[in-house]
Amino acid sequence: MIRVVMPKLFNKFPISEQFIPHGHCYLWKPGLVWLHVVSDSLIALAYYSIPLMLVYFVRKRKDLPFDWIFLLFGAFIVACGTTHVMEIWTLWHPDYWLSGFFKVITAIASVSTAMLLIPSMPKAVALPSPAQLEAANVILQNEINERKRAEEKLLHNAFHDSLTDLPNRALLMDRVKQAFIYSKRHQEYLFALLFLDMDRFKAINDTLGHSMADQLLIDFACRLKKCLRPEDTIARIGGDEFVVLLEDIKDINNAILVAERIQKALILPFQVKGQEVFVTTSIGIALNTTHHVFPEDVLRDADVAMYRAKALCLGQTRYQVFDTSMYAQASKPSHLETELRRAIEREELRLNYQPIVLLESGRITGFEALVRWQHPDKGLVSPAEFIPLAEETGLIVSLGWWVLREACSQMRAWKLRCPETEPLTISVNISGKQFSQPDLSEQIKQILQETKLNAYSLKLELTESALMENAEVATTMLLQLQALGIRISLDDFGTGYSSLSYLHRFPIDTLKIDRSFIMDLGADLEKMEIVRTIIALAKNLKMEVIAEGVETRQQVDQLLSWECKFGQGYFFSKPLDSQTTEVLLVTTNQHLPCMTR
Ligand code: C2E
Ligand code: MG
Ligand code: MG
Repeated sequence: MIRVVMPKLFNKFPISEQFIPHGHCYLWKPGLVWLHVVSDSLIALAYYSIPLMLVYFVRKRKDLPFDWIFLLFGAFIVACGTTHVMEIWTLWHPDYWLSGFFKVITAIASVSTAMLLIPSMPKAVALPSPAQLEAANVILQNEINERKRAEEKLLHNAFHDSLTDLPNRALLMDRVKQAFIYSKRHQEYLFALLFLDMDRFKAINDTLGHSMADQLLIDFACRLKKCLRPEDTIARIGGDEFVVLLEDIKDINNAILVAERIQKALILPFQVKGQEVFVTTSIGIALNTTHHVFPEDVLRDADVAMYRAKALCLGQTRYQVFDTSMYAQASKPSHLETELRRAIEREELRLNYQPIVLLESGRITGFEALVRWQHPDKGLVSPAEFIPLAEETGLIVSLGWWVLREACSQMRAWKLRCPETEPLTISVNISGKQFSQPDLSEQIKQILQETKLNAYSLKLELTESALMENAEVATTMLLQLQALGIRISLDDFGTGYSSLSYLHRFPIDTLKIDRSFIMDLGADLEKMEIVRTIIALAKNLKMEVIAEGVETRQQVDQLLSWECKFGQGYFFSKPLDSQTTEVLLVTTNQHLPCMTR
């Protein structure tokens, strides 16, 4: 086709012989055309292969310093290729078109080689000076240090709590695992886990706000650290959950000692942004034993013991050592809880009344209302069994309102039935949870109106921990109650915080000395001294004192010798149901016969 078209074209536009490169002119003799073709093909092959080899070589040896050699070589090839570009026109010549065809190929080869070669050439590298090297070295070292620090920080963050900087659950479990493995090889090796859970942390969080609650957690962690040896691990494994790992201990007493030390360290309030916050914590203690199969089992047992401690509401000594019977107890509440819920609805709760008397004469001045659960199968259930559960589940609030209403209406009924009785008071126990109800005084006011009981006839019994748990609002709340004419007794005094400094802060009318002190009167000199001091203190602060759990005449005499005015206990009367109490009131004319014995 080309052979047909090209001659025709050249006949139309004849090209002078002088434009044909001379080298090719003389080669163009009939018969020598194939020699020309072969020579041009070889040249084309060379144009292809040499630069390609060059490109290959350059790419392999990037470190070669003689980059200018490649530059020159590349330029030469490009130049040669360019001369061939100039000769492309021969493509149109009827006799030279084949030669022109090869020129085109060689031209394309050289241009593409240049394009490949130039970017492949190594850049000229100026050798840096020693100062520059030094500076680069410093930068590099800094970068390495920075990366190392970042790696260390990442590692630290992976195993530490970001708020308190204590080890987190992962690190704790790693250490527990190590201790656990060691204990399996050394039978005598003991370690203990103390599971701590702050009481009422949610309420603190809600009242103080998150930033203050965070600060409290940080301070709490600091205080805990001070109670431990440097080699002990203390970890934060949840919002208000902390775990202490005590390694290589002798026996359970070591762990108990630490738990007591922690509880003691928490007696003083925390100062968070100028506010005093009282914190208590429930502690569960578990030792590694042979029945543990996995390290996690020890933690689970400590957790179970902690729940037990919380449920028991043991005042300030809120710790429990795990024992296997707790497994059964752990599943018990759910059933008991539904039963208790029903008990309130089905009115299975009853009130018993225990007289509070003038020690001197045995005259009844009032009663303490004490709740009982008349269980359809179990009979009379003691409050010690269900009050902690009611506290834990929040049922205590509705239970508490029922008790208050019932006690007030009963007292009003007695006053109506026995109008000749001297002023009697009714004391009602108020739990910490109920005390924290914002509308407490309003509700009480309403109950007093409904039952038509004089506010002066009502006394509320609060424990020290209930006050301290609500320290932020306690004063306001107590002042509101006082304004209504209601009086406040501090129940179980001496077992809780026993911090006398707060007594004058709150408008408290009566101190009820805990039964545990009265019980040991005459036997324990230290406790006797405490009781004597409490009575003297109350006198100074113009408060009344009631001794709880008075069981003997000797105790009465001892208390009288210290000028303690009131008492309550089995010596006078056990708690009685309402009918028996009424009979007692009527028949004794308010004077208990025990005093005449
Ligand atoms: P508490 O308020 O300190 O009540 C005194 C407890 O000591 C009563 O136990 C009473 O029966 C007992 N007691 C009184 N005198 C003697 C004595 O001479 N010897 C002995 N061994 N015990 C004596 P109870 O009725 O079992 O109540 C236990 C606790 O349950 C109460 O301690 C109180 O904290 C709580 N509780 C009882 N009723 C209520 C209630 O209605 N609401 C709330 N929140 N708690 C209640
Ligand atoms: Mg009481
Ligand atoms: Mg008491």
